[in-house]
Amino acid sequence: MFQYQVPKINLIFGYGALEKLPYEVKKLGKKAMIVTGKNSMKKLGFLDKAMKGLKNNNIDVVHYGEVEPNPTVITVDKGAQIAIQKKCDVIIGFGGGSSIDVAKAIAIMIAHPEAKSIWEFSPTNKKPKMISSAIPVIAVNSTSGTGSHLTPYYVITNSDTNQKPGNGHNSIFPKVSIVDLDVVSKMPPGLTAESGFDVMAHVMEGLISSNSTPFSDVYALEAIRLVWDYLPIAYNDGKQMEAREKMALADCLAGWVLTTADSELPHALAHPITGFYPEISHGMSLAIIMPSIIRLNIEHGSDRIIKKYCLAAERMGGKCNSSGEKDALKAADKIEELLKNINLNKKLKEFNIKEENLSQMAKSCMETMFEDFKRGPVQPSIKDIYNIYKENY
Ligand code: NDP
Ligand code: MN
Repeated sequence: MFQYQVPKINLIFGYGALEKLPYEVKKLGKKAMIVTGKNSMKKLGFLDKAMKGLKNNNIDVVHYGEVEPNPTVITVDKGAQIAIQKKCDVIIGFGGGSSIDVAKAIAIMIAHPEAKSIWEFSPTNKKPKMISSAIPVIAVNSTSGTGSHLTPYYVITNSDTNQKPGNGHNSIFPKVSIVDLDVVSKMPPGLTAESGFDVMAHVMEGLISSNSTPFSDVYALEAIRLVWDYLPIAYNDGKQMEAREKMALADCLAGWVLTTADSELPHALAHPITGFYPEISHGMSLAIIMPSIIRLNIEHGSDRIIKKYCLAAERMGGKCNSSGEKDALKAADKIEELLKNINLNKKLKEFNIKEENLSQMAKSCMETMFEDFKRGPVQPSIKDIYNIYKENY
C-alpha cells in the first residue's frame, strides 16, 4: 500500500513564461510582494520586466530585494514586517531556492501575525509553533536546482546558532510555479553546476527513500538520466538551450520527488556545512559528501537499496549485469565522474573550513536534521557523521 498526494500547482513552463505572471497574480490577490536576491534578477532586467507587467495590470507591488544565498531568519523577519505593514496579500518568490524559500516563510508569517519570528516555527524548538496556514505564494525560479517551486518546504538559517533546518506545510505549495527558460538560461557555469547537482541529489535520495513510490521512482530515474546527459553540456556551454530545457525539466521532476519521497542523509549532512559556512552553496555541500554516503548506504543497504542503485547506475551509462553490490557501487563511481566533469570534485578544506568545526557540524546535524535519517538505510551515530565529514575534509 502507498499514498501519493497530488496538490494543485499550476506549473507554467517555457520561453517567456514570466509574461503570465500578472494574470496569475490577479487571480490570487490585490497587493503583491516580490521577493528577490540582491543582484541577479535586477541586473539581468527580469525584475523590471516583472514589475512593469504587474503595474500595467493595475497590481500594487512592493519589492523586497534583500535575500542572501542560504537565507537567514533576520531576512525573513524583516521582509515579513514590511509585507504586513504594506498589507500584501500574495507573495512572489522570484529567484533561486533562497528567494522562493524566503517568500514561503513570509507567507507563513503574514498568516500568523502573533508570531514575532519565523524561528518560532522551527522544528528544532522544544515546543515549535505550528503552522496552520499561509497567504498564497507564486514561485518564479531562476535556477534549475532546488525544486522549491514544487515543494511545500522552506529552509532558513539561524545565524546565531548556525542551525539550518528545513520546515514545511501544505499551505506553502506555490499556487503557481513559473519556469521561464529565458531566466534559467542566464545562470553562469558555476551556479549551473552547483544548482544542477542539487537536482541529482534530490533524486538519488528520493529513489532509495523508504517513502519512495512507483510514481516517484519513474520521475527519479528519468531525472537521473536527464542530469547525467545534460548537466555537463549546460555547464560547458550555457547557450545550449536543449540542455537548459532538460535541466529545468529535471528540476521539476526532482522537486516532485523531494515532495513525495523526501530527502535523506546527504541533505542532513549538507545543511550543517552551509549553516556554519553560508558562503558555500547548497549544491556544493551536497557534492562534497554524496559519493561517500552512497557507498555507506550500499554497504548497509538491503536488496531493495542495492537494486535501486543499480538502476541509477544504468541511467548514468553504467552496465549492471548481476544487480549486486559491485554493480550498485557503479552509481557512486558515476556520480564522481559527473562531479569531475562539472568541476565539483572538492574537499571541505578547500573552502577554509576549520577541522575543529567538524565535530560541531556533526552535533548540529544530529540536533537539526534527525528527521532525514529515518528514511534511509543507515541510522548514523554522531561519530558516523563526523567520520563522513572527516573522510571528505
Ligand atoms: P540561490 O537562490 O541561493 O542563489 C545563488 C546565487 O545565484 C545568488 O547569488 C543569486 O543571485 C544567483 N542567481 C540566481 N539565479 C541566477 C540567474 N538566473 N543568473 C545569474 N545568477 C543567478 O541558489 P539555489 O537555487 O541553489 O538555492 C539554494 C537554497 O535553496 C539553499 O538555501 C537551500 O538550502 C535551499 N533549498 C530549498 C529546497 C526547498 O524545497 N525549499 C530544496 C533544496 C534546497 P542574487 O542573490 O542576486 O539573486
Ligand atoms: Mn537540495
